[in-house]
Amino acid sequence: MSISNSYLQGIYDSLAEKSTHEPEFLQAVYEVLESLCPVVEKRPDFVKAGIFSQIVEPERVLQFRISWVDDAGTVRVNRGYRVQFNSAIGPYKGGLRFHPSVNLSIIKFLGFEQIFKNALTGLPIGGGKGGSDFDPKGKSDGEIMRFCQAFMTELQRHIGADTDVPAGDIGVGAREIGYLFGQYKRIRNEFTGVLTGKKAGLGGSLARTEATGYGLCYFTKEMLAAEGEDFSGKRVVISGSGNVALYACQKAIRLGAKVVAMSDSGGYIVDENGIDFERMREMKEVRRARIQTYVDEVPTAQYVSGCRGIWSVPCDIALPCATQNELDLDGARMLVEHGCMAVAEGANMPSTPEAVSFFREKGILFGPAKAANAGGVATSALEMSQNSQRLSWSFEQVDGMLHDIMKEIYQNAAAAAKEYGQEGDLVTGANIAGFLKVAEAMLWQGVIF
Ligand code: NDP
Repeated sequence: MSISNSYLQGIYDSLAEKSTHEPEFLQAVYEVLESLCPVVEKRPDFVKAGIFSQIVEPERVLQFRISWVDDAGTVRVNRGYRVQFNSAIGPYKGGLRFHPSVNLSIIKFLGFEQIFKNALTGLPIGGGKGGSDFDPKGKSDGEIMRFCQAFMTELQRHIGADTDVPAGDIGVGAREIGYLFGQYKRIRNEFTGVLTGKKAGLGGSLARTEATGYGLCYFTKEMLAAEGEDFSGKRVVISGSGNVALYACQKAIRLGAKVVAMSDSGGYIVDENGIDFERMREMKEVRRARIQTYVDEVPTAQYVSGCRGIWSVPCDIALPCATQNELDLDGARMLVEHGCMAVAEGANMPSTPEAVSFFREKGILFGPAKAANAGGVATSALEMSQNSQRLSWSFEQVDGMLHDIMKEIYQNAAAAAKEYGQEGDLVTGANIAGFLKVAEAMLWQGVIF
């Protein structure tokens, strides 16, 4: 595979030479640069100002040691990261991921994607991402709290309400954000909106918990409407059962669909009667149980071990909401073979490049993560606004704004695709629309001579 513009291919080659141990980061950069070929031709001023080569390098990469003590009194050591990728349009903004698979490549890929996603929301937020290879599974509440405190003891010197505002991601929900916020406040003696995804009583925004999953369904609704379709009566398969997956499930059901399958990293469940959202939410959010537990409580459901087989469940709409590269070519083939008409990404980069090409080739409606899952960060930015004004808006107000933002993201991505000669291609459209906004801001700010 090669990028169809030699100037961009040169930028990619030199980055690849320096980033041999960063496959996920290179995968994300490749996809964006490929989409930007028509922009190089139209905008020689961006080439002259070196915008394309600057945008693939993070402004700052922080890596640090996190030492903490487990319940048995043993000292444990983990690695922490914060990649402050681009602040051209606002303070760095992006989640923290706690998962054993976290490394610099994963955090750089997520930070890079975040630049364009945040620009697409139309709100003034730059791109960043962070996390740790800490595994929260099986840890006690006390261990989670001590780890979060140790993590923030270092991170606090690099962030701030106008500098860098982290949020949650895999393994980091409202509980972890609460512990992180407590430690920031203890050290800095400041009650500011330095983190988003807080509980409402700590300045969190209503509807933030639901925002990514709801936003994904609002975006999918727009995609379907363009083809004269809607969610009503459709079979939906959702991978994952975390924050994004759960609320995508709730909204899809409210929009008239039947959600027939969900998963976790161990396996998936199929319920032909339609998944009982409230039972699933209580099981995952309150009891933190494995998804297999669902079949003990719902006799019509079946459990299959191994999460990748979920794409063999026949559906009209697939919403991958677990993790990167979870939907490969085999999965894409199974979906299309069974009549799937639309795929929208709730997770970041869940489809492999081969799967995306296959969907395009088969004319499947495809909503890329940058656009389709931007509802979470958009609502985080609304939380920042509420924090600076010391106000809190109602659930309905925030949900209404989220709905409008997702509609606009769809329209902007579709319009950019059309303007640059790729009508209907939302991958290209989202990449171009996000890039243009950041590139103009970088151009206006100049470089140091
Ligand atoms: P959660 O930690 O709440 O849930 C993650 C879900 O994905 C769990 O069901 C988990 O299963 C599953 N999962 C994680 N890793 C793997 C893996 N390697 N293989 C299979 N399944 C896996 O995370 P979120 O719901 O917050 O995030 C899910 C995705 O959405 C991520 O890609 C994230 O970056 C993206 N995203 C999240 C946003 C948010 O607002 N939370 C915003 C935008 C994007 P198990 O419990 O077994 O590990």
